[in-house]
Amino acid sequence: MAELSRQEPKKDVAAFTGTGTGAQWLERYNHSLMGVFGTPQRVLVRGAGAVVWDADGREYLDLLGGIAVNALGHAHPFVNSVIAGQLATLGHVSNFFTTPTQIALAEKLLALAHAPEGSKVFFANSGTEANEAAFKLARAHGGTARPTILALEGGFHGRTMGALAMTHKAAYREPFEPMPAGVRHVAFNDVDALRAAMDGTVAALVLEPIQGEAGVRPLSAAYLQAARELTREHGALLVFDEVQTGVGRTGEWFAGLAAGVVPDAMTLAKGLGGGFPIGAMVTFGQAASTLLSAGQHGTTFGGNPVAAAAALATLHVLESQGVLDNVRKLSQILAEGLAGTGGVTDVRAHGLLIGFDLAVPVAAEVVAAALGAGFIINAPKANTVRLAPPLNLSAAQGRSFLAALPALIAAAATPFKEKASS
Ligand code: PLP
Repeated sequence: MAELSRQEPKKDVAAFTGTGTGAQWLERYNHSLMGVFGTPQRVLVRGAGAVVWDADGREYLDLLGGIAVNALGHAHPFVNSVIAGQLATLGHVSNFFTTPTQIALAEKLLALAHAPEGSKVFFANSGTEANEAAFKLARAHGGTARPTILALEGGFHGRTMGALAMTHKAAYREPFEPMPAGVRHVAFNDVDALRAAMDGTVAALVLEPIQGEAGVRPLSAAYLQAARELTREHGALLVFDEVQTGVGRTGEWFAGLAAGVVPDAMTLAKGLGGGFPIGAMVTFGQAASTLLSAGQHGTTFGGNPVAAAAALATLHVLESQGVLDNVRKLSQILAEGLAGTGGVTDVRAHGLLIGFDLAVPVAAEVVAAALGAGFIINAPKANTVRLAPPLNLSAAQGRSFLAALPALIAAAATPFKEKASS
């Protein structure tokens, strides 16, 4: 038998995939991939900054950023070089071992969160896994005496069973019942409802400071403050799901902390790795000792050094290049432009997580028209459009969308109005 060699002639990934038109790729997709996402809108082959190209050579301005993931856009040269360097040195070790990269990232997150002495980080690979860790943290804290986990109406926390149980939308949960027991949903932003729901059986309250999938709906600072006071009063944990809002997305490092409220735990994912999959749960102070003992929780890939390197590099660029200032500047430009656009009835701009409502429920049609015109945006609800572009988007790029938007809305709304009046 020939000796196994690590040397192979250099190959581009296309050598394994083959080539094709968008239509050909989608046919292959539909034959080979589970249909849980429906048919993808386009087959993307390349990206640079906030721009991506599809298999048919068309160019798009990506104002969704992989749903709030591509914090620095696509193919960022510095992030890529740090990832490549780590991968060429050490790509994975089990959690029987650790790496300097993983440790440095945990330290960096604790520092950015101004977490008090004793605070600790658990690494996962996605948002839903970070929330599973939070679910177990709540169970470990509450035991059988405190089986209740409160979550909010409109909340989205992921698709694995614990996170799904905390997710509010019935259509996501019901086909997979029975859910893990104990989760109750309380009214959004309603302090009285929360007060009424709090008692000695509650282990944790889990919430998004700004609900992303529900159309960019912020909780008030007063609600977050009350949530802190009530959970403390009743001995329950307060968990912020910052999977979508964290790591600079709102123009602040973390939205809940920026509102002046320190939770017991905070979950992160999406933008943290700048496009590389990674999730994290940051536990603050006392809460960090809740899931401490060996064997209570784990995951093979959590803290993978390549993912950690991607996150360290992303955080470095965000911090050293003043990207959060850019987020605030672009947020204002987009918010003002959107507010002045006909057919837009409400704008909720939290940094570069922006939801805007339309006078008529044609958000999906606006998204389709935008795609045709070279813009990637998203419709979390029938009358709401969401933008979550790269945080280093340029003002010119933002303005190009604002310039195109009136025609996109008109194209989408006219058939709706004609149908309504006929
Ligand atoms: N939590 C929030 C607030 C989210 O927006 C999402 C995803 O959209 C999740 C959790 C789930 O994250 P993931 O898709 O990485 O599992």
